[in-house]
Amino acid sequence: MPAIDLPIPEAWHDLAHQKGMTIIARVQDRYHLALACGTCGRPSKHKISALRACQPQCPHCLEAQWRAAAEQAGLEYLRRDPEDMMYAWYRAPCGHEVRRQPDRMRQIGAGRNGLRCETCHAAREAAEAESCGWVLIGSDPEGDANYRLYQHGCGHQQRIARGNLQTGRFSCGCCGECWSAAPSWLYLLRLHLPGHGPVVKLGYSRNPQSRMRHQLGMTAELGCALVVSIPMATGHDALKMEKRLHRKLRRRYPEAVLPREAIARHLNLVSEIYDAALEPVIRTELERIARTPAS
Ligand SMILES: [Zn+2]
Ligand SMILES: [Zn+2]
Ligand SMILES: [Zn+2]
Repeated sequence: MPAIDLPIPEAWHDLAHQKGMTIIARVQDRYHLALACGTCGRPSKHKISALRACQPQCPHCLEAQWRAAAEQAGLEYLRRDPEDMMYAWYRAPCGHEVRRQPDRMRQIGAGRNGLRCETCHAAREAAEAESCGWVLIGSDPEGDANYRLYQHGCGHQQRIARGNLQTGRFSCGCCGECWSAAPSWLYLLRLHLPGHGPVVKLGYSRNPQSRMRHQLGMTAELGCALVVSIPMATGHDALKMEKRLHRKLRRRYPEAVLPREAIARHLNLVSEIYDAALEPVIRTELERIARTPAS
């Protein structure tokens, strides 16, 4: 900020001091001043009219407050949004960047509001669709927030309510396949999570091979391998058995469940991952399920 050689009336100095600031110089044009903050001592540019009308806000102190509020909420403050100064960018616990209003941090820190990472959420929705043999194309062309546009394995695209996709209450308008009534698989994957070591993932899918390749965001260094897959008569059975098995594992082996933060940095999912020590236990469970006739 190059200084401009214009006089600074004594009354302005008094006014600035009353507001906890010190005038350094006139800058930019005849409407602006550089003020030093009485708290942090750092300079910032302000309009002369703003000094007269209100309490000038030191941007450095404001940023420090935002940083502290973000930390309280479990996020890392990164920077102001250059497009809109009312917003800032933060690093979420999952590792993704999210854009929020700083006020939101105070609400999250106080537990009045949750943080939903858009990147993680989109990945979760895509994985959800893939588990039943569909691909998430995008938002609903008719604009209903409860619906999405999906494409079936047969190539047909249709709108489906997300709730119905989750429960299998729909069928393909072209080939007629109802995912929840069609054959599916329970599977166990083994992979290497950087910073943790070998882990296993238990899930269900219409096509475990494709799920592994496309939907989990698994890169080569994760060394992903399909350990075992168990055919299930229907998608509904697969979903039911998977949920039951996760409940059992969480209850009996809580120490083997990987924390969300450890997973989301590397994979497009937030749960269903266990330490590799649990692999023999899960294999035994899956073999038992495979031997049990479908009810
Ligand atoms: Zn300051
Ligand atoms: Zn995320
Ligand atoms: Zn179809």
